[in-house]
Amino acid sequence: MSADCIFCKIVAGEIPSATIHESEHTIAFLDIAPVIPGHALVIPRKHYANLFELPDDLGNALLSDVKRVGEAIVSATGAQGLNLGMNNHEAAGQLVMHAHFHLIPRFDGDGLKLWGQQAYESQEAMMALAEKIRNSLS
Ligand code: 5GP
Ligand code: ZN
Repeated sequence: MSADCIFCKIVAGEIPSATIHESEHTIAFLDIAPVIPGHALVIPRKHYANLFELPDDLGNALLSDVKRVGEAIVSATGAQGLNLGMNNHEAAGQLVMHAHFHLIPRFDGDGLKLWGQQAYESQEAMMALAEKIRNSLS
């Protein structure tokens, strides 16, 4: 547990949450300010700041619970789709520094645009960036 982490306090039951699911390694609860009602967060019980801090061996538990909770959200809300998102670091919009997945139910024609897209300057620029990223794999 990390002092002053709001999600650690939710895990510890020190502040209330609309809990959906609890398992050995994760909990899921409704986001207090939903993009669309039913928007939920799946988080590891232990405090890890973001994706890059998460141990690989938590992956199965997280993905399995994300799928299970996601299916339940779709079923309960009557949604036709679901967005899975994760903000990592402030520059990406992360406000709570305890790793979490956003599950957002989506409805045909709901008009929500999660992000805008742009074009590369050229095909060469795109290929050069792919090579740079490949060379940065560790
Ligand atoms: P982030 O921007 O870090 O990816 O998202 C943090 C999310 O946590 C936000 O969508 C915000 O609405 C939600 N949130 C912040 N504080 C609380 C809280 O005390 N309870 C619940 N249920 N959600 C919270
Ligand atoms: Zn925490």
